[in-house]
Amino acid sequence: MRNPVLALGAVSLSLCFVLQTPMTIKAQTDLVDSDEFFQRASRTGPERDPTQKVEELLKRMTLDEKVGQMTQLAIGMIVNGSDQNVQIDPAKLDKAIVKYGVGSILNVSDQALTVDKWHEIIGQIQEAAKKTRLGIPVIYGIDSIHGANYVQGATLFPQEIGMAATWNPELMKRASEIAAMETRAAGIPWSFSPVLDIGRNPLWPRFWETFGEDPYLAKVMGVAFVRGLEGSDVASEQQVASSLKHYMGYSFPLTGRDRTPALIPENYLREYFLPTFDAAVKAGARTIMINSAEINGVPGHVNRHILTDILRTELGFKGFVVSDWEDIKKLVTFWRIAANEKEATRMAIMAGIDMSMVPLDYSFADHLIALVKEGAVPQSRIDEAVRRILRVKFELGLFEKPMPNAALKAKVGLPESRQVSLQAAQESITLLKNTNNVLPLAKTAKVLVTGPTSDSLISLNNGWTYVWQGSEESLYPKDRPTIRKAIEAKIGAGNVTFVQGTKITRHPGASNSTPTDVDEEVDIPAAVAAAKNVDVVVLALGEGSYCETPGNITDLTLGEPQIKLAQALQATGKPVVMVLVEGRPRIINRIAEGANAILMAYNPSNEGGTAIADVLFGDVNPSGKLPFTYPRTPNGLINYDHKPFETENTAFGNMAFNPQFRFGEGLSYTNFTYSDLRLGKQTISANEELPVSVTVTNSGQRAGKEAVLLYVSDLVASISPPGRRLRRFAKISLNPGQSRTLNFTLRAEDLSFIGADNKRVVEPGEFDVKVAGLTQRFTLK
Ligand code: BGC
Repeated sequence: MRNPVLALGAVSLSLCFVLQTPMTIKAQTDLVDSDEFFQRASRTGPERDPTQKVEELLKRMTLDEKVGQMTQLAIGMIVNGSDQNVQIDPAKLDKAIVKYGVGSILNVSDQALTVDKWHEIIGQIQEAAKKTRLGIPVIYGIDSIHGANYVQGATLFPQEIGMAATWNPELMKRASEIAAMETRAAGIPWSFSPVLDIGRNPLWPRFWETFGEDPYLAKVMGVAFVRGLEGSDVASEQQVASSLKHYMGYSFPLTGRDRTPALIPENYLREYFLPTFDAAVKAGARTIMINSAEINGVPGHVNRHILTDILRTELGFKGFVVSDWEDIKKLVTFWRIAANEKEATRMAIMAGIDMSMVPLDYSFADHLIALVKEGAVPQSRIDEAVRRILRVKFELGLFEKPMPNAALKAKVGLPESRQVSLQAAQESITLLKNTNNVLPLAKTAKVLVTGPTSDSLISLNNGWTYVWQGSEESLYPKDRPTIRKAIEAKIGAGNVTFVQGTKITRHPGASNSTPTDVDEEVDIPAAVAAAKNVDVVVLALGEGSYCETPGNITDLTLGEPQIKLAQALQATGKPVVMVLVEGRPRIINRIAEGANAILMAYNPSNEGGTAIADVLFGDVNPSGKLPFTYPRTPNGLINYDHKPFETENTAFGNMAFNPQFRFGEGLSYTNFTYSDLRLGKQTISANEELPVSVTVTNSGQRAGKEAVLLYVSDLVASISPPGRRLRRFAKISLNPGQSRTLNFTLRAEDLSFIGADNKRVVEPGEFDVKVAGLTQRFTLK
């Protein structure tokens, strides 16, 4: 039985719609064809060619100077002090830059710095570089993962998993343009982003750093990210060099634990994990960072086939390859593929590493110089690496303008940038369940807000936020609302009761080997009591913050105290709206049934509280769709593009695929009807294009945005075909009653797969094109 008070609320709500919903949505924000965007974004403009300058400089360099360029140290090696009191230590700086000629410095020592502090530090580094014999500028690199997250006051965006859920690559590009502008404003010309690993194992603690499980969506988003960072002129003071990471196969460890072995045959590597890197390399990305783990027993950092044969010979990558953190050392300590660090250095350099993120001592330079002198590493390999590094430094304009520009400080945290973040958060939020249209809520409703993520900016952001683990509450901006605060702002604090319910605390001994978060009960009985006096419960569940190895878990199930809280609230009979604030899909099968509505928020960042309240109360019509499969059980980890028999209830079927929510799922407050899926031809040959059109109509009562997803199924193939693969998408706005016909063009590539010989192949036969519930078949001759 529906709650009568709430039903009343719904009546007043429809009045609110009339007053508050804009009746038209600007059409120019629409993305009508992902392929058109991809082709346009992938085109790089004419670029300055620094070859001559590079060669002239290289000729003048000594071996020590060259190896210095290949060395990257952490900021801790040149500073003293901690937090905001960090200061350059002149003697340490001199040793790094003048004595060793170190070419690159990275990272923060503890936490995000003010833009003034960054200018001071980068300015002093570049002054030191000027004093060296050849005056080669240093390239400073930083993890601007979701905005310039190590610059205080910068605009932060939803993490990549949320950006993927927007299905809006134009928005992704705009967000990374802002990230580039604010990173460069701090004097930093290089970002270690985007993450182009494919999130096909939700246990992996870096799942939220990915664009989800589908290579096509990730490829389009990845190119958008790269073009936003690098722009049409990377030397301009608005742009930075990107670093694609972590090349490749890092995201698919067998156990789901970070930096552990993966077993991926080459045809699957090429089918699922290479396309994002391939596309981003072709879109001009200047640097690439390497998989810190191993595939098939070969650590990423010694995999010459991947680093050189594929990356250089096949993809034609011209930029430089940087190792990940301490990964040459880990060839000895983790992987035991080399007996000592000197041998590890030789193996990594010969496999194709151009720059080593050492980063905490001078061992790399010493070993490499010795190796060259002994003839174990040829001088030509050193020249090749240094050429690539210098090239990027010239392209970035660092030789002309190494110093931070004071005039750019004002570009950090502009109100219009914050608006873009808000829009991204709004478009990412994904409505997964809405029984009896319990949402949107009436603004007159009395609401209980509870749950561990309901009053926390940490959960809204996750890792790479002000500190590596995102865990320092004191560093978060005081003027950004949590979910609780945003709801209070929306409907008045008098209508909101807040009870904590449960909390997620950081494990005191959190380290690489212990889980980061501990779920604890706080006051579940108080939450239950409070529920009795309200119309609706907004229960915000999920995760705290974590990043990399400390985020490893042994069970995908949501913490037991949270399940207990949800069950207790559901037992009150009051409508319960569950908001999931989490970086990976935590299992909710025991509480999903009893929830009246479920909203997936991912990690929407600092505007996320506002965006969630906007969606809950109908000021924004949700349009996000899941970029991954939400599993129902901890072991039910099957991606959407599984084999057809896994869903078929036949003698041979095993019905294994039974997720909580499907890839591409996401509801709206209006209805979209699909019709007239048409193919331009019934039969094509491999060199022909296939026009496809489909009509989408807003058949509901309010304006909304819809992500349109087009899949292709290869019915019979020599490598057992997946049931379907995403090949195109669009994101369009429609007013009530409005229809729009979308036109796509499929090419042979969209019908192809990687064969047993690791080569792309197109096989004749029948194919289905599927959009929403519609299917059309054609034949490839
Ligand atoms: C991570 C990289 C990151 C690097 C520098 C490593 O631990 O794997 O993604 O770019 O640290 O901070």
